[in-house]
Amino acid sequence: MSFFQETFTVQGGTVRVRFGVGVRKEVTSEIDRIGASRALILSTSQQAGTAAEFAGLCGDRAVGIFTGAAMHTPVTVSEEATAVALKLRADILVAVGGGSTTGLSKAIALRTDLPQIVVPTTYAGSEATPILGQSENGQKTTLSSPKVQPEVILYDAELVAGLPVDLTVTSALNAMAHAAEGLYARDRSPLSSIMSIEGLRAFRDALPKVKAAPADLVARGETLYGAWLCGTVLGQVGMALHHKLCHTLGGSFDLPHAETHAILLPHTVAYNAQAASELLKPVAELFGATNPGLALYDFARQIGAPIALRSLGLEERDLNHAADLAVRNPYWNPRPIERDELLRLLRAAWAGDRPLV
Ligand code: NAD
Repeated sequence: MSFFQETFTVQGGTVRVRFGVGVRKEVTSEIDRIGASRALILSTSQQAGTAAEFAGLCGDRAVGIFTGAAMHTPVTVSEEATAVALKLRADILVAVGGGSTTGLSKAIALRTDLPQIVVPTTYAGSEATPILGQSENGQKTTLSSPKVQPEVILYDAELVAGLPVDLTVTSALNAMAHAAEGLYARDRSPLSSIMSIEGLRAFRDALPKVKAAPADLVARGETLYGAWLCGTVLGQVGMALHHKLCHTLGGSFDLPHAETHAILLPHTVAYNAQAASELLKPVAELFGATNPGLALYDFARQIGAPIALRSLGLEERDLNHAADLAVRNPYWNPRPIERDELLRLLRAAWAGDRPLV
């Protein structure tokens, strides 16, 4: 297989990435390396214990802890946390958590230009992107800016070893969605395609091991490696139907982020396989079926992922409205977005049926 393209553009970031079991304990040397000395530690309230551990690791370089990170990065929380950072004269942010905590860190960085060290505890991949989604008055908007790209990422398998298995599975499929859409992105490059395939391979191999032994640090490390690759793809290329549909359903029906990605992925990939079958062939090959959507559906079932939108509380009567919303703002997709076809896709995903091919 060749990933050669006659033309492409790659925008490289200057992100420092460190991998390894226990690497979080190097956080002070990373703070020193940046030339900072007053760290504000960020987390959700659920991960306050992990934030306290980091405050201990940072010693006298920690000037405070803010544990108010929340899903969808509410602007009110970001403004409150920014005020705390300014009051404490923080000169660096240390974010420990999933996409919600990373989102808060990015939102503060946008407002203050503070450098960020992010220590991911899920596979969402936000740490590897210059993208920030924020919510205000029930509306979620997304921006991209080098200001929000974290400077340092510390991937420590010990921090995902305790991620509950159901969250592990949905978060992994969320990451895999970045790679799957990366394969047919218009602005893909040989580098992003290679990263997509290796990211998918890492999850394919490591997830069953993590399911069998959730504290297996080698397998957990491989899932984090997959998350880094898939997140980097998300940061480099544009997304299409899958991410837009998840955004619409998440924002309009308050569906949980990772679960929505996990359920929709086989369906959106099957939809787009009709127009991008060659580009999606590696997915079919990696997961062992002739159609990449069916291959992902079987993999998702095998690892115990949720498969039906109705299990998330979405009502069948909402599907028509969801299809209307999903076609409202046109965007590029390898296959034209047709409302009735989208409604069929949504019906299958709602019921938990195999994807339509
Ligand atoms: P999350 O950060 O909201 O975490 C979900 C829950 O799991 C939280 O309660 C959290 O405290 C808990 N948790 C996290 N890690 C844990 C661990 N190791 N053990 C136990 N509990 C743990 O979920 P997420 O899926 O990581 O992030 C979703 C958010 O990230 C969404 O708002 C999404 O839009 C955003 N996101 C943004 C980007 C981007 O590039 N901007 C990319 C991906 C996701």
